Amino acid sequence: MTSLADIRSTFLNYFGKQGHEVVTSSPLVPRNDPTMMFANSGMVQFKNLFTGVETRDYARATTSQKCVRAGGKHNDLDNVGYTARHHTFFEMLGNFSFGDYFKAEAIAFAWELLTQDFGIDKDRLLVTVYHTDDEAADIWKKVAGLPDDRIIRIATDDNFWRMGPTGPCGPCTEIFYDHGDHIWGGLPGSPEEDGDRFIEIWNIVFMQNEQFADGTMTPLKMQSIDTGMGLERIAALLQGKHDNYDIDVMRALIEASADVTSSDPDGPGNTHHRVIADHLRSTSFLIAEGVLPSNEGRGYVLRRIMRRAMRHAHLLGSKDPVMHRLVPALVQQMGAAYPELGQGQRLIEETLLNEEVRFKQTLDRGLKLLDEELAGLPADAALPGKAAFKLYDTYGFPLDLTQDALREKGRAVDTDGFDAAMAEQKAKARAAWSGIGDAAESAVWFDIADESGTTDFLGYDTLSAEGQI
Ligand code: ATP
Ligand code: MG
Ligand code: MG
Ligand code: MG
Repeated sequence: MTSLADIRSTFLNYFGKQGHEVVTSSPLVPRNDPTMMFANSGMVQFKNLFTGVETRDYARATTSQKCVRAGGKHNDLDNVGYTARHHTFFEMLGNFSFGDYFKAEAIAFAWELLTQDFGIDKDRLLVTVYHTDDEAADIWKKVAGLPDDRIIRIATDDNFWRMGPTGPCGPCTEIFYDHGDHIWGGLPGSPEEDGDRFIEIWNIVFMQNEQFADGTMTPLKMQSIDTGMGLERIAALLQGKHDNYDIDVMRALIEASADVTSSDPDGPGNTHHRVIADHLRSTSFLIAEGVLPSNEGRGYVLRRIMRRAMRHAHLLGSKDPVMHRLVPALVQQMGAAYPELGQGQRLIEETLLNEEVRFKQTLDRGLKLLDEELAGLPADAALPGKAAFKLYDTYGFPLDLTQDALREKGRAVDTDGFDAAMAEQKAKARAAWSGIGDAAESAVWFDIADESGTTDFLGYDTLSAEGQI
């Protein structure tokens, strides 16, 4: 079986041979963009090269980038445990051209790597292009010999990438793999596209335009390429699996999770193990970079992910903290590629243990309260916002944890009610505070607290000019 590590190096070696500088992953906490919460694609560390603000002594690069998508514009937290293809932490393989090669080479590289080096059956591959991008469609026909019905034209923003409200942008082409008609899901662009039959493996962006604030768009002088392929997704198909969670590394973590909770990895608790394995990776990588659980900003995203995993461990019947006991398995699986895991192992273990000890003090009572609240409601009614707020405020349940708990029961939270309860409490705190101190000063403090968005990270969504790949 080709291991995750082999696939990563095959990719980097392939592009290395094609004249690309092999660059190491940048940290998850972006150093060049304070408005961005976590790196969520390979291009993040190269933003200034695409805009021309910075130049380096290479015009082609390739990376395997650590990514976290658990907040802001790209939030895959709710997908974990439910889809075959989403993680909160994953590695994005990418090749980049900074004003060097463009469409024809980018497509030819991708096709050669997939069908020759990786040996993927070309009859299982199909692509999308932006509906006006005849050039890309023609190249696909020429390079890959794909018939028209496997070059799908998409008119939505899914196939038009923007770095931000202004700046470089352009059409993209996405490569999909057909896992077979025994799996539910439809062609890209169809109503069933969210199924897991046709899985997007690679996204190639053609940066060819510049968007200005006045709404005009002009051709870019420097045309660039930005691509991203999910390492776990390509690994799944190369390992003959459909599901990302069946690949070597994820499977080892799922087995470790089953081990510490004395449960069956493939039994009814499988969803819990998937969540635990995924969240173990994202939390450990974040802690290794010095992000610690807190009630705001990045630390709160971390806390949300940690506590979510801890609730799933609790549902598996674990009485004692377990997350920290999984760290050795993660270090064993990924420590060679990411030495920060081994170096940070003690910090990761201690942080997970402290948080789990702390959360366990209120978890039981919170879950009991949740059950009592639900018992008093009609079968399909949403949980009132006030109750969700009490769980948040008194029992330390992040809103998405409560939503996750309710989703299993097919129920939702009245989020408007939650926001209203939150606003009411802030107003009360403000009133109490202004009685003691200087009113103007405290108002400023609360505005800052509001902007940093302790619950929903609005600040992140609105401030960030982040790039989707
Ligand atoms: P999807 O539509 O499946 O959610 P996407 O279009 O959001 O994927 P991109 O932003 O294009 O993904 O990211 C580039 C590549 O990174 C994708 O083609 C996919 O292979 C991989 N990828 C994206 N999100 C995830 C995730 N949450 N977990 C694992 N791999 C991912
Ligand atoms: Mg997505
Ligand atoms: Mg997509
Ligand atoms: Mg995409």
